[in-house]
This record gives sequence, structure tokens and C-alpha cells, in this order.
Amino acid sequence: MTYHRPHNIQDACSLAARPGARIVAGGTDLMVRVEKGIEEPRLWVDISHLPLHDIRHEAEHQVLEVGALCTMALCATHTQVLQHAPLLAQAAVVVGAPGIRNRATIGGNLANASPAADVSCALMALNAELVIVSEKGRRTLPIQEFFLSPGRSALAHGELLAAVRIPLHRPEHTVRTLSHWFKAGNRRAQVISMVAVAARTHLDADDRVLASAIAVASVAPRPLRLSHVEAMLLDAQLTPDVIARAAAAAAAEITPISDVRASAEYRRHLTSIFTQWHLEDVEQGSAPRAGRMAPPEPPAPVAMDATGEGPWELRINGRAVSVRAPGSRRLLDVLREDLHL
Ligand SMILES: Cc1cc2nc3c(=O)[nH]c(=O)nc-3n(C[C@H](O)[C@H](O)[C@H](O)COP(=O)(O)OP(=O)(O)OC[C@H]3O[C@@H](n4cnc5c(N)ncnc54)[C@H](O)[C@@H]3O)c2cc1C
Repeated sequence: MTYHRPHNIQDACSLAARPGARIVAGGTDLMVRVEKGIEEPRLWVDISHLPLHDIRHEAEHQVLEVGALCTMALCATHTQVLQHAPLLAQAAVVVGAPGIRNRATIGGNLANASPAADVSCALMALNAELVIVSEKGRRTLPIQEFFLSPGRSALAHGELLAAVRIPLHRPEHTVRTLSHWFKAGNRRAQVISMVAVAARTHLDADDRVLASAIAVASVAPRPLRLSHVEAMLLDAQLTPDVIARAAAAAAAEITPISDVRASAEYRRHLTSIFTQWHLEDVEQGSAPRAGRMAPPEPPAPVAMDATGEGPWELRINGRAVSVRAPGSRRLLDVLREDLHL
């Protein structure tokens, strides 16, 4: 095994083009696969030291550019992201847990091409454009063309995702824009979604829909846009009847599978409910209402002693839980294997 840590993009591209090369950024997806023996890269290209960590608002182009190496933690708190692309921050803040968010990158979330990837779903609703570089040069790709199937993206061997460009222009006559992020899992942190919905709607002065973008994760082999629902909503006023029809159409537009996380029927139900909640909250002009999707509360600190056996007093899904396990055991293994969550 060979390991390289290039400091410029040109070197990274020529290393990534070599046979057997594997790019690693935060390693939060790749290392799981390596640990499970699914992959054994021969040539590691660690891109973490490339200059792709910036978030830049280009006022003249009305674009927010996010470097591929920006972490979830950065995107969740960055002023420019919160101001111009709050959906991205809302999705980033629920990825994994703090340790994961400090390492997991935007580029890795996209390149991993998981149908359940939270940030990829938010970027679908934001109509992001991806900047891809290689030895051959630079190309851009609309995000809608990026995901091919689970684990497969439009990136060719040797190509590196350099940045995500989020267009900020709003349709003419926009008076209000509201966006909401909903994620359902069987707990509130460290969880792969059963369904996640990222939605953004622009309204005019008469409260008519000028454009609506609704993206869904975990209901198909790749993140999807509900284009039929979006078309239905064009020029409509969000009356209870319109909202009910759009919510029903959302369930009809997807063909999810049943798996260990949720049944197909429950996924359709969640997609419908989240679409309804988004449109109701847009109509009311509000952030998600109480009891719907509140941002996660900061977890209470737990004193851990790696040599101890517990019991560890945790709060999970609002309930106090006492767990006995070696302090060196990973929280995720305790949640999944000991508590069956
Ligand atoms: C415990 C745990 C919890 C998690 N929870 C969530 C969650 O709630 N929501 C969620 O969406 N994800 C979650 N994840 C998945 C993961 O954290 C993200 O997908 C992460 O964003 C991947 O980024 P990374 O930098 O770690 O990628 P890496 O693991 O370094 O790479 C992932 C893949 O992308 C490729 N790659 C990485 N960067 C680039 C690039 N710039 N150009 C080209 N290819 C590249 C690599 O070759 C590899 O194939 C979780 C993971 C773990 C381990």
C-alpha cells in the first residue's frame, strides 16, 4: 500500500489517475468500507491538504461556492451558508455526530453517491453545479446528472470533485423564499435516514408559487427531485386543497423499497407528510412548527473513562438510558448492537 498527501491540485490529479488510486478526504465513508474488508486501496491519495476548504460568496455571479473539503461542521455554522443556503446548513447539522461532522466533507458526501446522503439531497434542492477537475482539465456538471446508482456517480477514475456552486438568483417577482429540511430516522443522531426531504419554495406578492424544488433521499437508488409535484405547484396558491393534492402526488411519484430501516409504504407516507409540512409552513411563512422538526439539541456531555465498564448514563430520544459497556466500545456499536436502535 502506498500513501500520498499532495498539496496542490495538479499533483493530486496525476496521482488520482494512476491505476488502483483511491481518493480519501475525511475518510468517514471510505474507512468504514476498508474496516469491513469491502475495499483495500493500493494507492491512497489523501486530498485533505488541498486548498479546497473555502466558502465564497460571489456577489457578481450570484453564486455561493463551497470547496469540496468543507466539513459538515463548517457548513452548519458558516455565516454565508446560513444566510444564502440555509438548507445546506440544516442538512449538514444532522449528519452523524460532532466527531463525524468535524471530518466528513461535502465532496465525500457527494462522491460516495449514497441514496441516503443528507447533504447531497439538500444540494439537489439547491440546483447545485459541481466543479470537477482532472489531468484533462475542468468540467462542470448539474447535480441532477451526477448520481447514477447506489455508490456510483458520474466521476470517472482520476476525477476529483473540487467545489459545489450554488446559484442564488431567485425567480423574477419573488417576494418570499422559504426552505425546510426534514429527516426521519429511528433516533435523532448517528442515523441513516428512512426518508429525508429538502424543499424550497419561492412566492410572489400574491402568494403564488413561482418555483418549488423538492428533493428526497432514501426513496430511490439516488436522491430524487419530485418534478411532477414541482410542476403541479407552479403558479398555484397554497390552499389546503392544493397542499393535500401535492402531498398525495409526492407519495405517488416515488417507488421506494422496503428494507431494514423502513417499509416502502412508510417511506411514501413520510414523503407525503414532509411535503405537506413544507407547503403548510411556506403558506404560514414560518420555520418548521413546534413538534415537527426542531434542530437537534446540543447533547449533554458524558464523562467517559476508556478503561471503565460504566454504567454510562445517556439520554437517547429524550429518554434516560443506563448502559453497561467497556469505555473503549464505540457509541454507534452500543446504539446499534446493544440497544438495537
Ligand atoms: C458514524 C457515521 C455516521 C454518519 N452519518 C451520516 C448522516 O447522518 N448523514 C449522511 O449523509 N452521511 C452520514 N455518514 C456518511 C459520511 O460521513 C458522509 O458521506 C461524508 O460526508 C463523506 O465524506 P468524507 O470526506 O469522509 O469522504 P471519504 O470517506 O474520504 O470518501 C468517500 C468517497 O468519496 C470519494 N471522495 C471523497 N472526496 C472526494 C473528492 N473531493 N473528489 C472525488 N472523490 C472523493 C472517496 O474516494 C470515497 O469513495 C456517516 C458516516 C459515519 C461513519
